[in-house]
Parts: sequence; structure tokens; C-alpha cells
Amino acid sequence: MQRAYDILNHTFGYDEFRHHQADIVETVISGRDALVLMPTGGGKSLCYQIPALVRDGVGIVVSPLIALMQDQVDALQQLGIRAAFLNSSMNGQQQQAVVQALSAGELDLLYVAPERLLTEHMLSLLSQAPLALFAIDEAHCVSQWGHDFRREYQQLSILHQRFPDVPRIALTATADVRTRQEIIAQLDLNDATIFINSFDRPNIRYTISEGQNSRDRLWQFIEREHSGDAGIIYCLSRKKVESTAEWLVAKGCIALPYHAGLPDEMRRDHQQRFLRDEGVIIVATIAFGMGIDKPDVRFVAHLNLPKSLEAYYQETGRAGRDGQPANAWMAYGLQDVITLRQMLQESDGNEQYKRITNAKLDAMLGLCEQVSCRRQALLAYFDEQQDTPCGNCDTCLDPPETWDGTEAAQKVLSCVYRSGQRFGANYIIDILTGKDDARVQSNGHHQLSTFGIGTDKTAVEWRGIFRQLIAQGFLTADIESYGVLYLTEKARPLLRGDVQLALRHQRKGKKSQKSKVVNTLSASENIVFDALREHRLKLARERNVPPYVIFHDSTLQEMAQRQPVSYDELRTISGVGDKKLTEYGESFLAVIRGENTEESVIE
Ligand code: ADP
Ligand code: ZN
Repeated sequence: MQRAYDILNHTFGYDEFRHHQADIVETVISGRDALVLMPTGGGKSLCYQIPALVRDGVGIVVSPLIALMQDQVDALQQLGIRAAFLNSSMNGQQQQAVVQALSAGELDLLYVAPERLLTEHMLSLLSQAPLALFAIDEAHCVSQWGHDFRREYQQLSILHQRFPDVPRIALTATADVRTRQEIIAQLDLNDATIFINSFDRPNIRYTISEGQNSRDRLWQFIEREHSGDAGIIYCLSRKKVESTAEWLVAKGCIALPYHAGLPDEMRRDHQQRFLRDEGVIIVATIAFGMGIDKPDVRFVAHLNLPKSLEAYYQETGRAGRDGQPANAWMAYGLQDVITLRQMLQESDGNEQYKRITNAKLDAMLGLCEQVSCRRQALLAYFDEQQDTPCGNCDTCLDPPETWDGTEAAQKVLSCVYRSGQRFGANYIIDILTGKDDARVQSNGHHQLSTFGIGTDKTAVEWRGIFRQLIAQGFLTADIESYGVLYLTEKARPLLRGDVQLALRHQRKGKKSQKSKVVNTLSASENIVFDALREHRLKLARERNVPPYVIFHDSTLQEMAQRQPVSYDELRTISGVGDKKLTEYGESFLAVIRGENTEESVIE
């Protein structure tokens, strides 16, 4: 293990292992198998990279994410590690060079796509080289039920048969028990030690709001907390993706659309710019994100309701992989619920599928309507108990005020019932507020006992109540005939007065968040930080790598705060290893001294 610590300090520039990393590394170094479940950003890569360096031979990393291999290998090479990859994006000559390096024992780590690894040619090549380990990344791809299923992953147990003495480490960020069991069964990992980390992402702040003008609220949020930051904004439709991107550009942001309907070329280009430039906002459908490994995404915003908590957790998880403060921000409306249910009903799935999917949507809405800590609720859904409220979500920071909505809900429910469960929210509100127009007249609804019983509230207030009643499952919007509302079983005890109902107060005005996430630097430190970022971008462009491959934001922030003046001081900063010290130390020290780089003027 001494060797492992040396590598951690000198090669990676980190002081200590996080979570279970030390135990995992030790397990694999000693030649045993491991199954690692860790959330995104938890630090899975070190768990196989360090053992691969400590053990003799090359570590083989199986990954389905071909598009990422280049960046992963660039980052390792920046650390002075002999890494390479093999996949279908390379020409024959490039592949030949890698194979030669492999045969000559000149590699520490080799990333391979599964279909390539499984070829007889590759397997026999490997049998001639000493192997340190097999790392099976994104191991949940073996699961038939997951959305990332890869058939080749199910054949990876062949590795164990062909190379019984080489330890295997399987890694995933997917939390649920069924997937875990499938990984063990399919990969033949019965003897593996299992390491389960908490799936909490404490640096992510969760904020969810509902109501109208979500765009304006998004803009306030970006302006207040994230000007110049990289972020992802998810929308449900391609049209909304494009209009939102255009709108942000008009506001002066660098915003790029991404969805399956755009030409391949453009999608690639936009993804690349998001990864390589600073401060780019991607506006996307859920088509975007699989395998996006950018550590410094400072916010993920949803302008629509995600389909499930699994999707919400995965999408928001792309924020703050570097462990620095980040925001998961969402605004949704009544229409989202109706649209999602409609899309589901029109889909080809069988009844069981529809039932499960509906239940997942209900769980998502449950989180939205949560009046206590959101993190506790989210983790509870993944079977993880947290005993105390987190203090870093909107309901903890700014507890919603509730009011006794029992009577108001009864008015709504009985009005829906008495008008025959044949109308949408707007019309019901007309009846409640006593709007005596032609439509109400012709239906005879001005004679209902519920006509005009809701004049104590405005139509906007009633809409908010409808949203909550739908979200909490007292009302369902009919899918076939757009927006028609009817009562559910759950409505009965409420109508009878057997239960009470607490509703949230609609948030009026824009109470500014108490504490802003991110950026703990003082004004003068910020100037240094900006200069460091600029210098980093210049270096990254010259080398054609993403900026974070040179140094992470957190490393630059620490530099700006501590302002080291010597190599010895610089080396104590997290993320500064030997190789980077030699290669970049002098120029970054110069920036801190206020010299160098033409562009940056430091007072
Ligand atoms: P994952 O693959 O689990 O999503 P990564 O392996 O990419 O996460 O690690 C996330 C970030 O945390 C990376 O920037 C990595 O360099 C950093 N990291 C990992 N382990 C440590 C550690 N022990 N100390 C400091 N930073 C670490
Ligand atoms: Zn909380």
C-alpha cells in the first residue's frame, strides 16, 4: 500500500484517499475481485488506475464510452501515465502502434471497447502480455432492464474463464439492488468484495419550484449564481431546446442546442465546445449526457419535469463531479404532468409498463411536492436512510410555508365531481370563481352548488391548488381527452373530511436565496483565479485537450487563495502532481506573481 500512497501523492497530487478508495485499491492490488458502487464524481477511476500502476503488467479498462476515451487518455498522459486506447474511431496505423506498445510492455493502462476486447485476436494478444487487472467500467450495461444495455457486456465473463488469475473490478454509479444482482450474476463476480458508497452528492444543492414564467426564473437564477459558468439545461422537446438556446444567446450567454434531430456533425461540435471551452451552456433533450465526464459543470437545470427519480438523479448528477458546490435547479408546471402522462399513454408499452412508468412519475411529483428535506426523500427512494435534514436543499434553506388546504381541496374535488368529470382545470376554475359566461350557462353549470364558491381566491391561486392536487394524486388528468380531470380513489377520504391536507403556499416574489452556492473567493482572489483560468485555456488550446485536463477549477481556486510563490508551496496544492509541477509549475507561478500572459492584466 505504501506504493499506492506514493502514487496518490506524487502522480495524482492528492493527499488522501476518499470513501472506500483505500480498501478497494488494497483489495485489487492483492489480486481479489471487487464490485464498486459509487455515485458519479465519487472517484471510481482511481480505484483501478492506482492498482494498475502498482501491479505488474497493463490494466485493461473496458468501457462503452468510446467518445470519452481520448479525453481520459489525455488526462492520464498529462499525469505522466502511459495510457492508450483502442476503438473503432482509429485508423489501422494508429491501432498498430498501440498493439505494438502493448506487446512491448510499454503501457500502464489500455482502454478498450467491449466489442473489440471480445475478438479472438485481442484475447490472444492479451494472453501474451502480463496483465495487472481488468476494470469493467459502467458495469450496469450488463443489465437488460437498464437503458444503457450493451449485449457484449453479457459476454465479459469470458475474461474470468480465460484469465482466472487476473483480478477484476467492476464499477457503476447505478444504485438499485436489482442491477447489482445482475452485475454479479452476469459477470460471475460471486467472490468479489462489494463496496457500496453513499449515493448522496452533498455538494449539489437541490431546488425545485413550480408555476409559470419558468424561463424568467431560470434567467434570474443564472444571473444571480452562475454567470460565466458551464451548465446543462434540460427540456422535454426539441423545439423548446432550440427556442431556449436562442433566447439565452440573445441574453448574451454562450448557449448551444443539442438534440437527436440535429445533424451528427453539429451535435459533435456542440458537445466538443461544451467540453473544451469555458462557460458554455448546453440546452438539451435527455439525448445529451451519457458519458459526459466534464468535472466542472456548475449547474444542471430542468425546464420540465423528468420522467422519474432515477432520471432526475442521473441528470442532476452531472453537476459538480469535482466535488465543488453546484446547483440542481428545476422549474415545472401543470402542463408537464399532463404531457408526460399523455406521452406515456400513447406509447407502445403494455399495461404493466404503463403502470410502472406512471408510478415512477408519481414518485417524481412526490419529490416536487415535498415539504421537508428533498435530499432525505431522494435518498430514501434509493433505500438510503439519512437521519438529519441536509441543510443544502431549498426546503431546508427556505422551508415552504404550508396552510390547511382541506377546504379548498374539497371545493375543487366536488366541483370536478359535480360537473361530471368531463372538463379541464381552466373551466372548473370558471365555475368555482362564478364566471357566468356562455359556456357555463349552456352547460347549466351556473346552477351547480359549487358555482361561485371559490371567489375568495384568484384564478392563479386556484391553478396552483390544482397543480398540487394533481401532483399529490387526488386528481388525474385524462390522457385520451387532453387535460380532462377526474377524481382518484385517494380523493374520497379527503372529500369525506377524514383526512386533512397541507398545501404549500405559492412562493410570491423572488425571495433571493439566502446563501449563494459556489465561489468562496474574495474579489482580489477572483482576479487571480480568472487570470489562472485564462492561462489554462491557452495551454489547453495549444495541446488540444479540455482545460480541466491541465488543472481542475478546484486546483486553480486553491492557487488563487493560497498564492504559492515556490515549487514547494505549489506542490502542496491538491491536484498538483510531479509531472504537472515540472511541466506547468513555472508558468502558473508567473501568473500568480502577476507576470506573463499578455491578456491578463492584474492590478
Ligand atoms: P467517477 O468516475 O466516480 O464519476 P472520477 O473518478 O472521475 O469519478 O473522480 C471524480 C473527481 O474526483 C476527479 O476529478 C478526480 O480526480 C477526483 N478525485 C478522485 N479521488 C480523489 C481523491 N482521493 N482526492 C482528491 N480528488 C479525488
Ligand atoms: Zn435538505
